[in-house]
Amino acid sequence: LTKPIKPEHLITAVSSRVERYRQLRRLMMRDSLTGLLNHTTLKERYAQEINRATRLNKPLTYAMIDLDNFKRINDTCGHAAGDRVLKSLASMLSKRLRNTDVIGRYGGEEFAILMPNTNSQEAFKILDEMRIGFEHILHRSANKTFNVTFSCGVASYPECITPSKLAETADIAVYAAKNQGRNRVIIGVEK
Ligand code: GH3
Ligand code: MG
Ligand code: MG
Repeated sequence: LTKPIKPEHLITAVSSRVERYRQLRRLMMRDSLTGLLNHTTLKERYAQEINRATRLNKPLTYAMIDLDNFKRINDTCGHAAGDRVLKSLASMLSKRLRNTDVIGRYGGEEFAILMPNTNSQEAFKILDEMRIGFEHILHRSANKTFNVTFSCGVASYPECITPSKLAETADIAVYAAKNQGRNRVIIGVEK
C-alpha cells in the first residue's frame, strides 16, 4: 500500500487480505467434502491435547469411527450418495459434540474425535447415542433409500497408561467392533 491512503481504502484493503487469509487457512486445515479438520491438522491437535491432558492431569478420550461396509454402499447406491452419507455423519458429529471436542476426517470413511475432560464412560454414552441416531437416518440415492451404520473404538487417558497409545488402542477397538458384528462402540484397553 502506498501512502497517503484514505481510511476507507485502508479498511477495504485490510479486510480483503484478512478474508483471503481466512479462506486459505480454511483450505489448509479442513477437509473439503465434510468441512471437518483434515488429517494433518488432526494429528497436530492430537499431540496438543495429549500434552494438555498429561500436564493438567485431566482425562482425554480419543474415538475412531469407521463406516460399516461402506464400499458396498458406494457400489450399490453410487459414489455421490456415499459422499452425502459422509457429510451427514460429519454434520451429526458437529451438532452433537461439544465445541471443545476436536472432530476430524481421518481419511476416506474414517473420522476421529478428541474429547478433552471426558472419560471413557461419558464418551461411550454420547457416542452410542450418536450410533443409534445415525443408524436410523434414512439416506437417499437415485433409486432407493438405505441405512448406514458405523463402528467406533474408544480409548481414554488415564485409563490408557501410555497417553501416546490412545490412537493405537482406539484402532484395535474399532477392529474388535468390526469382528463382533459392526454397528457398535467398544472401549479399548491398553495392551
Ligand atoms: P468395513 O465395515 O470393514 O469398514 O468395510 P468397508 O467397506 O467400509 O471398508 P473398506 O476399507 O473396504 O472400504 C472403504 C470404502 O470407503 C472404500 C471407498 O470407496 C470408500 N470411500 C473412501 N473415501 C470416500 C469418499 O470420499 N467418498 C465416497 N463416496 N466413498 C469413499
Ligand atoms: Mg476404513
Ligand atoms: Mg469402513
